[in-house]
Amino acid sequence: MASQEIERLSAALAQLPGLGPRSARRAVLWLVKRRESALPGLLSALGEVRDRLVECSICGNVDTQAPCGICADTKRDQRSICVVEDVSDLWALDRARLFTGRYHVLGGKLSALDGVRPEDLAIGSLLERVQEGGVDEVVLAMNATLEGQTTAHYIAERLEDFPVRITQLAHGLPVGGELDYLDEGTLAQALRARRPLG
Ligand SMILES: [Zn+2]
Repeated sequence: MASQEIERLSAALAQLPGLGPRSARRAVLWLVKRRESALPGLLSALGEVRDRLVECSICGNVDTQAPCGICADTKRDQRSICVVEDVSDLWALDRARLFTGRYHVLGGKLSALDGVRPEDLAIGSLLERVQEGGVDEVVLAMNATLEGQTTAHYIAERLEDFPVRITQLAHGLPVGGELDYLDEGTLAQALRARRPLG
């Protein structure tokens, strides 16, 4: 039987996305064996995440400053907002500077199965940003999954009465495709060919 310390760390790691109990235990053993070489770097990186990272109150991005670097950048186009499901999607789109506007992170997608309702997502704050004015275009960059598309249509409906152009990423995104798995060329193409939501 494993020690209490190992069990505690395994249980904590098993909560990470993509890691089940089995792979969490393997990761813990890997760390134990490399206590001297790999652990110090990991510990200091975790400490930095704990101490320095905050959520942007405007867009939901995670950064060392609030508002985040993107929202604070006056060279960015204030008139377009790209709406994404998660921070990882924002980073994927921003990695190659594909989009020159600002972002809005929903914090998930509508899902009857998982019980995620509109009020669980940052939709109200998006409407407020649009209502404040100065926004011409809202790009809905949801994943090409059923739930992603349901979310996009719901948001489009809520934005109907505002004088903004609503576009979405072009088809050609692989169905079921998650943005942060796509290469930059595919993402750039999907953004360039974005079209009105129909
Ligand atoms: Zn921000």
